[in-house]
Amino acid sequence: MSRTMVAGNWKMNTTPTQGTALVREVMEKVGNPPTKVVFGVPAIQLLAVQKLVEGHPNYAVAAQNMHQEQSGAYTGEISAEMLVDAGIEYVILGHSERRDYFAEDDELINRKIIRALEAGLTPIYCCGEKLDIREANNHEVVVGKQVEEALSSLSPEQVAKIVIAYEPVWAIGTGVTASKEQAQAMHDHIRRMISNQFGSEVAANMTILYGGSVKPDNATELFAEPDVDGGLVGGASLKADDFAAIIQAAGSRRS
Ligand code: PEP
Repeated sequence: MSRTMVAGNWKMNTTPTQGTALVREVMEKVGNPPTKVVFGVPAIQLLAVQKLVEGHPNYAVAAQNMHQEQSGAYTGEISAEMLVDAGIEYVILGHSERRDYFAEDDELINRKIIRALEAGLTPIYCCGEKLDIREANNHEVVVGKQVEEALSSLSPEQVAKIVIAYEPVWAIGTGVTASKEQAQAMHDHIRRMISNQFGSEVAANMTILYGGSVKPDNATELFAEPDVDGGLVGGASLKADDFAAIIQAAGSRRS
């Protein structure tokens, strides 16, 4: 099974009309994609975009968040069951913007991951250090702790269903990308951790994405690294040409 994947995170961008047009354009440009492609769209667009990708098994849709409870009095929230019923396969959890602006920590993210898995969703779990941590050379410890807490109490079978996205916060939306060596080193660190805690088979099959200013001109060299299985792409996923080029770059890496 290929580990390679490209996921777009539109964040709070595009109206439903614009979003539908963007997905159509990407699908027209790419055709049958050489890798799994996931559109991470605003909640109001989930159903419409899911309709567009239905019948195209290499395309899928991700929610950008969900609530940790099954149902109840949580005005404004969306549950894992609602997403599954709508045909959604993925949910992005633990994005640094959720951590920073909505005070999400790894304990809460752990509960969301468990809920998502119970409902049958694939979590795309985001982790990554801030600039001061990287400058203090403490990034492996901090990201290791994030991953450990987020996956705490999960079984190897559950962890096998998760996608991890390493997203150094200093690279998100800044135009500064981690070097291929920095990305590879962290991905290798994460994969070793997974191997130690959940077994070498789970680690070997796990998709670990890099996120942080992935663009058409840096995607090929990032994705050529042995442990960088593709990208979680913010800004560039909003431009059909750029996203299509990044998808092609991921398709040309070995699986
Ligand atoms: C993101 O938001 O997950 C992201 C990686 O954004 P960008 O590609 O714009 O840095």
